[in-house]
Amino acid sequence: MKLIIVTAPSGSGKTTIVKHLLSTFDNLAFSVSATTRPPRKGEVHGKDYYFMSPEEFREHVKNGDFLEWEEVYENQYYGTLRSEVERLWKEGKHVIFDIDVQGALNLKEAFPDKTLTIFVKPPSTKVLSERLRRRKSESEESLKKRIAKAEFELSFANNFDVVIVNDKLEEAFQKADAVVGKYIGETEKN
Ligand code: ADP
Ligand code: 5GP
Repeated sequence: MKLIIVTAPSGSGKTTIVKHLLSTFDNLAFSVSATTRPPRKGEVHGKDYYFMSPEEFREHVKNGDFLEWEEVYENQYYGTLRSEVERLWKEGKHVIFDIDVQGALNLKEAFPDKTLTIFVKPPSTKVLSERLRRRKSESEESLKKRIAKAEFELSFANNFDVVIVNDKLEEAFQKADAVVGKYIGETEKN
């Protein structure tokens, strides 16, 4: 079973692309991360994230339950639970992740031989800010944090196996389908 990691600065469109990939490939399942940030409107516990208190998160860190975890934004922790990945592998699924740049590099290091990393790049930082604003999910402070981190994250694009520029969504979907289909197809022959 393989890992497909989709990473990018916030607002690039990785959640949109991951959802599309999940609807295209039946043998792919989403790794639900743990986070201490509050749920956005419409987000469901256990589906989008395992929402937890900082105390609960710290307990998991202490117990070594995370494959990787990060303080992605100040006082906002995110992590991949080992139990989540094992659960999906038991179901016979390849696992797809939506995680930040540092988490993606750490996870790839843990499973170097069976991981495809995809970096989703916005056409420009201006477009990225516009998309984040239009999503209306963030406070002004949170928007600023995300945009400030984006430049830094963009500088990592070349560390990933594939870069998809998300300008026209349909084209980004097609490229994502092609690379993931090829990777899963290739790996299933092994
Ligand atoms: P991320 O998960 O990387 O933070 P999202 O998938 O939530 O990003 O996308 C950010 C916002 O931009 C969403 O409102 C989404 O609908 C929109 N969006 C995504 N891709 C495109 C695109 N190619 N063109 C225009 N808007 C897009
Ligand atoms: P958001 O708050 O927009 O859902 O996510 C913020 C950032 O945290 C995104 O870059 C997202 O990919 C990242 N993220 C989500 N889950 C994880 C995780 O389990 N580990 C790490 N390292 N980053 C994560």
